[in-house]
Amino acid sequence: MIEVRNLVKKYGNHLAIDHLDFKLEAGRVYGFLGPNGAGKSTTMNIITGYLGATEGQVLIGGHDILKEPEAAKRQIGYLPEQPPLYMEMTVREYLEFAAELKKIPGKDREKAVDEVEKLVKVRGVEDRLIKNLSKGYRQRVGLAQAVLGFPDIIILDEPTVGLDPKQIVEIRTLIRRLAKNHTVILSSHILAEVREVCDYILIISGGKLVASDTPENLEKLPGEPDTVEIETEAPPAVVEETLKNVPGIERIIIKERKDGVTRAQVREKKGEDVRARIFTAFAGNKLTLLTLRRLTVSLEDVFMELTQKNTVTDLAELKADGKRREGDEDDDGNL
Ligand code: ADP
Ligand code: MG
Repeated sequence: MIEVRNLVKKYGNHLAIDHLDFKLEAGRVYGFLGPNGAGKSTTMNIITGYLGATEGQVLIGGHDILKEPEAAKRQIGYLPEQPPLYMEMTVREYLEFAAELKKIPGKDREKAVDEVEKLVKVRGVEDRLIKNLSKGYRQRVGLAQAVLGFPDIIILDEPTVGLDPKQIVEIRTLIRRLAKNHTVILSSHILAEVREVCDYILIISGGKLVASDTPENLEKLPGEPDTVEIETEAPPAVVEETLKNVPGIERIIIKERKDGVTRAQVREKKGEDVRARIFTAFAGNKLTLLTLRRLTVSLEDVFMELTQKNTVTDLAELKADGKRREGDEDDDGNL
């Protein structure tokens, strides 16, 4: 449906998009996830033909966005980061104007506008000037403009920014409704949002695609053994001796001995769950277990790791170390 090939965008000397390559299939909801400045808006502006690329190519349903802009753009509805609203128009006037720009035939315009007004729930404010609308309503009007004519692909740049929690829920519900018969791409720097509404996530950082997969797969590390961490008062030698006799363990790693507590990790053999056996082994030897837990990688871990180091990193290592960066926040206090 959408093919992005070797996309590069430079603003002067600044490399905003650094060789992006991906294909998006029809009928899915894609999330561009990345911190502020990652290049999400730039990518969307190029995909929609608002901005030229320095290098590379964008194909929309097989049509080159530069060489066949009409055929390509006809398939796209776009809500840019700053919705292109005319403040002196009423909602109705604006949407009728947008329908005209989209070349919806005169006789069908009224019906098309009615339909989107109902969908985004702006019926009550259709005769109000856009400048007198709240941020939430303006966003809905922008969204109405994007879905007008129901193009196959709907691209929404940070559609929930600046909205209150109730409005956010409404917009997300609407996105899920649209997803039933459209390809939707939305960008966000909020992980929870992308996880909730998207089938597939593209993590962008520093203009690079650092990961792309389903939310479930991003959290899963196929083929990697699971790691269980324990903390005990027993000294390292005793810990090793005790764990040696537990079936299903591949490797024992003593991490540290501090303040009378040994922290160790065991790698389980594939498909094994050794937690109960470890508990029994320690209890049988009258040894304390202060902690016994499986280390998992959350989507937060993956996101933080990928967007901080800016390269595809060894997730297995991350998992084994059980790193957590709690309390990290971006500029907006999100995440
Ligand atoms: P995002 O949408 O992920 O926050 P953007 O695509 O807006 O990121 O920006 C990517 C990078 O390009 C940032 O470093 C930003 O400062 C820079 N940038 C964006 N637009 C311009 C512009 N018109 N001129 C110069 N630099 C820009
Ligand atoms: Mg942006």
